[in-house]
Amino acid sequence: MRISVTQRCNLDCFYCHKEGQNPSKKEMTPSEIEKIIAVGDKIGIKKLKLTGGEPLLREDICEIVQRASDHMKDISMTTNGILLDRYAADLKGVGLRRVNVSFDTLDSEKYKIITGRDRLSQAVAGVNAAVANGLTPVKLNMVVMKGINDDEIKEMIRFAGEKNVILQLIELEMFDGEFYERYHYDLSPIVAELEERAVRIKERKLHHRRKYFIEDSEVEVVKPMHNTAFCRNCTRIRVTSDGKLKPCLLRNDNLIDMVEHIRNGASDGELIKTFKKAISLREPFWM
Ligand code: SAM
Repeated sequence: MRISVTQRCNLDCFYCHKEGQNPSKKEMTPSEIEKIIAVGDKIGIKKLKLTGGEPLLREDICEIVQRASDHMKDISMTTNGILLDRYAADLKGVGLRRVNVSFDTLDSEKYKIITGRDRLSQAVAGVNAAVANGLTPVKLNMVVMKGINDDEIKEMIRFAGEKNVILQLIELEMFDGEFYERYHYDLSPIVAELEERAVRIKERKLHHRRKYFIEDSEVEVVKPMHNTAFCRNCTRIRVTSDGKLKPCLLRNDNLIDMVEHIRNGASDGELIKTFKKAISLREPFWM
């Protein structure tokens, strides 16, 4: 289960898909988020990822993680890392297991172009704090874009090995045809190279993503677009920051309002039924 806790962000990445969510300023309270997690737990969900916007902009993020940890053991977060230096120890203390840090470039000029902010050194400090506080395995999320950072893959593999973190190479997910054409970078040749160089290859159950072990580095590849195997092996359910269950990143015509039921005092039985309804609406986008 992937829950967005806010749409607010302290970066402005030009490629951001905003978790496929329509704009909304409404947010859930920690107890509403906990209720959704508790219902997810009752129907057998085992893993939770917190996302946003930037989850660390929520002042009550530690309370959210603490409440979540009463129901789920595997709690992770995807963050841009800017505030991680400040929060890593506390998050670990309340039960966060690991983090993904968005990290597209090692070049501060490019970082500014991509995110609209001059914050690369804070992001690096965030990665260091995550490792130092055992929020591991730390994963760096690198969205590879044509003409922007496609020349940095080797350098990023080296950097990840040096920091003892995993590098996730992610293909751009986007529907705007012109934008997609301009920036989409096909990772197939990189995959072919990794297949050749890897001393070991592992396939994850989720999305059938492949992990490559190369010298001191571990590299995972995420190729979602037009990928039927990715969809077939997707086990995700999303929750928007305004409390709707969202069966697919790429669709907004099958959302189910969960928080409204909670606010109306629905029983646990009714909430489980609502959750199961959303699960039944999951279907592959790419078939
Ligand atoms: N602010 C947090 C962060 O930076 O991780 C959480 C939200 S961000 C939307 C979550 C992840 O989605 C990031 O790792 C980001 O790189 C990825 N992402 C955003 N837009 C994307 C796109 N168009 N295609 C592929 N991945 C994308």
